[in-house]
Amino acid sequence: MSRIEYDVLLVGAGPANMALAMRLVELANAPIRIGILDKAKAIGGHLLSGAVSNPRVISKLFPDWDKGEFPLEGICKHSYLSVLGSERWEDVPRPLMPPYFKKEGYAIINISEMAAYMAGKIAEKAAAKEGVVVDMFPGFPARSILFEGDRVVGVKVDNTGSAAEDNLYAKVTVFGEKGFVSRDLIEKFNLRKNGQTYAVGVKEVWETAQSYEGEVWHTLGYPLAAGHLGGGFIYGCKGNKLIIGMVMGADFPDPNIRPPQVLQELKKHPSVQKMIKGGKIIKYGASILPEGGYYSLPEKFAVDGAMLVGDALGVLDVKRFSGVDKAMESGYLAAETLWEAVKKGDTSAAAMAPFKKNLLGGWVGKELFDARYFRKTFHEYPQLLGSFVPKLLDKIDGGAGVIGAAIVTGLLDPFGSLKLIGARTMIENPGDMGPVSYKNDRSYTVPAYTAGKRPVPAGFDETTIYSTADVVFYAHTHYEEDNRHIDEFDTQVCLKCIALYDSHGKDTPCVGDCTAEVHQTLTKEGVRRHAMALENCVQCTTCEIVCPYVNLRVNAAFHGYGPDFTGM
Ligand SMILES: Cc1cc2nc3c(=O)[nH]c(=O)nc-3n(C[C@H](O)[C@H](O)[C@H](O)COP(=O)(O)OP(=O)(O)OC[C@H]3O[C@@H](n4cnc5c(N)ncnc54)[C@H](O)[C@@H]3O)c2cc1C
Ligand code: SF4
Ligand code: SF4
Repeated sequence: MSRIEYDVLLVGAGPANMALAMRLVELANAPIRIGILDKAKAIGGHLLSGAVSNPRVISKLFPDWDKGEFPLEGICKHSYLSVLGSERWEDVPRPLMPPYFKKEGYAIINISEMAAYMAGKIAEKAAAKEGVVVDMFPGFPARSILFEGDRVVGVKVDNTGSAAEDNLYAKVTVFGEKGFVSRDLIEKFNLRKNGQTYAVGVKEVWETAQSYEGEVWHTLGYPLAAGHLGGGFIYGCKGNKLIIGMVMGADFPDPNIRPPQVLQELKKHPSVQKMIKGGKIIKYGASILPEGGYYSLPEKFAVDGAMLVGDALGVLDVKRFSGVDKAMESGYLAAETLWEAVKKGDTSAAAMAPFKKNLLGGWVGKELFDARYFRKTFHEYPQLLGSFVPKLLDKIDGGAGVIGAAIVTGLLDPFGSLKLIGARTMIENPGDMGPVSYKNDRSYTVPAYTAGKRPVPAGFDETTIYSTADVVFYAHTHYEEDNRHIDEFDTQVCLKCIALYDSHGKDTPCVGDCTAEVHQTLTKEGVRRHAMALENCVQCTTCEIVCPYVNLRVNAAFHGYGPDFTGM
């Protein structure tokens, strides 16, 4: 059997690679063979985002995006930045809102449906062009990267033992899979010199009694513990759908963040309760966000035979909460470089170097550069989230508006307000402080950490709040019986880890931060052991990021198994 070889093989059918495929097919005026792999059973089936997005790339690919056919959840009519105490909710007055929180006119989308729609359009466009072949393989995850010397020549997709059946080859392999396998490429060539930092995102989709279509809230404050960077997002979609989510930094000392429970706390807020009263949950899911930005970008965006795009590259802009448009633009521009490289028959790193220049020279580079110190600010000024914001929230709960609360907190805490000015300058008008780097998120974990008790709002409806075990039902996960997609490398390491965290009365980080109650510690024959209920796993990779001993690896499951994020 001869080997299967593509000109371009796309790993991951997310916004980045789907934009790439669309643009490449548009450009192709000669034969080209493109393959697209995704780990989900159907294109879009494992995709989860917010998502409110600037439509600047969508509108390049689909000029009629707002006229009917494109799968929109709505267009933002009003956007708010809201500061939450545990009882009260105050919107930041419009003139004081940072401009990047103003989302009016932006597309509200669910990226799983968008990717499925784009797959149809790519197939349609390719069919109309002589010699342009696009083969899509949902349910075929890349397991590992194939190298010949230092050149990437494709990926391994199966484990039958026959190279002809297991391997897919390509002149260029493009990794747009949020790092599931491309982390090996980054490590092999030591491409990410300044490290990366992640956040965990959890999300529920609700059907509500009332429609909030076009309303977009980003929230700060409650329910995050003092010092924890993150926030909530609430997006009103068509058909009385309401998206409620939380994003929280993984670089937080608490070994037991319990992300799905932080989201339940947000839902207990009286204002959120009003929105979901009489409604029902439809879906649940979780994913991670690479937040380092500009200085966490790899040194090279391409090596011989391979490129990186989207979240795998790290173009998410946390300041603007803009990942979808930047991922899509990275794919769009990668396609232009790729087409030239494939035409010339030169897919070396040097031939594909213009991709980096074009991406950083355009609006993606400009905005990422502007946001380059955003994430670092909260490390440099820990007092901001650690003490200033909690005091501000107390004032808000005491009945002061945002401006009043800020003035009183500032007067009572002049040192804190000076820090606030410093932090704001670092975010909004930074001078040149040079590159910043990020330590692994796991290194922030403090086994003995005790979180300040979060106040619980009174009077919430118990039926709207779920245990993690219960909410996972709404991720609709499905696996084969003998599925083992997470590797635990060393059982002895887990035993030591459990003993340490037990001695502090804590769960181990994998147990305490898992978004789907997969990890457990069980006592078997008198020994406390690590176990996994893999059938619950939503493949978010949080456990791998937080495991203090780098003792886990989350792989894509075979044959498309995992969560069903359709509609997320
Ligand atoms: C909770 C949350 C809320 C967000 N909200 C917003 C928002 O409001 N606005 C915004 O602009 N951005 C938002 N983002 C960020 C945005 O979703 C991402 O930046 C964007 O989806 C990145 O696109 P991508 O194509 O690079 O990767 P992804 O969207 O992650 O797609 C990767 C694809 O690769 C596939 N895959 C993974 N591993 C493999 C493998 N081994 N083999 C084959 N396929 C594989 C996956 O199944 C998936 O289809 C949010 C993210 C989260 C998690
Ligand atoms: S997997 Fe990691 S976090 Fe979990 S018990 Fe083992 S060593 Fe600890
Ligand atoms: S086991 Fe890991 S990858 Fe799976 S849901 Fe839990 S944290 Fe996410």
